[in-house]
Amino acid sequence: MFDNLSDKLDKALHILKGHGQITEINVAETLKEVRRALVDADVNYKIAKDFTARVKEKALGQDVLKSLKPGQLMVKLVKDELTELMGGDAAGINLSGNPSVILMSGLQGSGKTTFSGKLANFLKNKKTKKPLLVACDVYRPAAIDQLHVVGEQINVEVFSDRDNNDPVAIAKAGVAHAKANGFNVVIIDTAGRLAVDEAMMTEIANIHKAVTPNETLFVVDSMTGQDAVNTAKAFNDVLNFDGVILTKLDGDTRGGAAISIKSVVNKPIKFIGTGEKMEAIDVFYPSRMADRILG
Ligand code: GDP
Repeated sequence: MFDNLSDKLDKALHILKGHGQITEINVAETLKEVRRALVDADVNYKIAKDFTARVKEKALGQDVLKSLKPGQLMVKLVKDELTELMGGDAAGINLSGNPSVILMSGLQGSGKTTFSGKLANFLKNKKTKKPLLVACDVYRPAAIDQLHVVGEQINVEVFSDRDNNDPVAIAKAGVAHAKANGFNVVIIDTAGRLAVDEAMMTEIANIHKAVTPNETLFVVDSMTGQDAVNTAKAFNDVLNFDGVILTKLDGDTRGGAAISIKSVVNKPIKFIGTGEKMEAIDVFYPSRMADRILG
C-alpha cells in the first residue's frame, strides 16, 4: 500500500538521518522533499504545503536542530502530523437506532454494493446485529442481482422490489420490513452514476430525507486520487454525510485520497476496502495508516 509514497518519504527523511549536524537548511530541504512526495501521491498542493509548514513549526519549536537524534524526531513529527491529517482517532459508526439505518452513497463503480455486503457481514459477525440489505438501484437490474448474490454469499437477507421504480418508496419499505421482521440494522445500497449529476444528488437527498439514517456513508474509490476528494466535497455539500469509506486500497493507489479527504470535508474515514472478497474490510485507524506509510 502506497509503496511509492513510502519510498519517497523514506528517502526525504534519510537526508536528516545521516547527518550528525543539522541545520535549518537541511530541515527545509527535507521538508521540501516531503512536500514533493505528498504532491506526487496526489495530495493537493495547498494541503501538502500547509502540512510541511506545520511540521516545520513543530520541528523548530522542539529544537530539532539540537536534539540528539534529529532524524528520528523528524520522522515522529511527520508521522504525528500525517495521523492528524487523516483524522486523529478512529471513528466508529452510529448504530444507536432500532433498526439503525445506514445509507450508502457514492458514484457508480466506487464499491458501494461490495461494501454494503462487507459491512453487513462485519456487523453480522458481531452476533448482536441482524442486518438487512436493501437494493435501491432501480436503474440497473444487474445491480439488484449483484446485491442478491452478495447477500447469499454472506447469508444476509436482501430486500428488493423489481416492480417498483421509486427508490424512496423501496428504502422506506425496506426499513418497515426490517422493523416487522426483527432486523436491527438496515443497509441501504443506492444507485450511483458515473459522475456527479443533479438527478443523482436529488435522488439520494430524497432517500436521506425519507429514512433519516443514523449513519450516512460516502463510498469512494481511492484510485481516483484528487477526483475522489472533489466527489466527496460534492456529496458532502448535499448530504452532510457522517463518514467516508475508502475502497480499493489494495490496488496501485498513490494515497492522495486517504491523506487529504478528511481535511477537505472534515469527515473521518471510517472503513477501508482492501479487496473484492467480503472479508476485505478494515476499520480505519489513522495512526496505523501513518505507521504503514512511514514504515
Ligand atoms: P458500486 O457500483 O458502487 O456498487 O460498485 P461495486 O460494489 O459494484 O464495485 C465495483 C467493482 O469494484 C467491482 O468489480 C468490485 O468487485 C470492485 N471492488 C469493490 N471494492 C473493492 C476493493 O476494496 N478492492 C478491489 N480490488 N476491488 C473492489
